[in-house]
Amino acid sequence: MLRQLVNEARFALTLTTTGPLLIRSGQARLGNSDMVPVQTFRDGDWQVYVPGSSLKGAVRSHAERLLRSIRADAACDPFDGSSVCRSRSESPDAATIYESLCCACRLFGSLTYAGRVAIGDCYLPRGARVRLERRNGVGIDRLTGGSSTGALFDLEAVPSGVSFEGSVRLRNFEAWQLALLLLVFEDLAQGFVPLGGGRSRGYGAVTATIPLLSVTWCGMERPPADAIWGLGQRLRGAYGTKEEDRLPTNTALNWSRQGVRWQATIEGPFEALRGTLEEAVVTAARERKR
Ligand SMILES: [Zn+2]
Repeated sequence: MLRQLVNEARFALTLTTTGPLLIRSGQARLGNSDMVPVQTFRDGDWQVYVPGSSLKGAVRSHAERLLRSIRADAACDPFDGSSVCRSRSESPDAATIYESLCCACRLFGSLTYAGRVAIGDCYLPRGARVRLERRNGVGIDRLTGGSSTGALFDLEAVPSGVSFEGSVRLRNFEAWQLALLLLVFEDLAQGFVPLGGGRSRGYGAVTATIPLLSVTWCGMERPPADAIWGLGQRLRGAYGTKEEDRLPTNTALNWSRQGVRWQATIEGPFEALRGTLEEAVVTAARERKR
């Protein structure tokens, strides 16, 4: 919706398996689309990786659960064909489209809007190798979660204790959107966000660490030391944003200037910020028109 960059938050993350993670194989058909990681040819060898799209799917699902726990319609129902978020709006006006979307679509995107979050593919650290575990198997029926008759095949899994490295970027965000994303990654860090297929059978347990959050604000005015400014601070309430759009921080931010950009970093984990993050998300979800 905005061509120019107003603010940006980015962080690197390390994703570590705490249980087996199913691999998508060329042979396996059942449950195939849910299985991560997948394999790719990299650095002269076949390697497993976790696609950013898979991680984004898991992160979005968890964000939707959090939003619905605050307010049932804060995240739209993906199976509701008549939902405003799913309809292709006639309106060419980006502000109208953005304002009509639910909280989840405003952050992660919808059919009509690209969203704010980019999650990159997560790869093994350079030089690391993984010995995959063979699990012989009975196919998992996607509908019932039980075994599927006649679908015997060998499953491969990444064992527990394997780490993948990736990065997350959030651009032109409102303060509550950064809060929601950090809350989800804090839950991921604590092992509450499963990844990939076979979850009901104990697959997909992961944890994450985020060493450093880096925040950028574009503009001449120096941002405050005790808060991160959201997009509304610049838009002055346009697009349904808040005029006072700020996320308070518990540590003083040491902004450094690079041209017309201000940059600051906050060290993870963000457990100490949890109360502030929750308050920002709860307020935003309740105040929205829908
Ligand atoms: Zn929606």
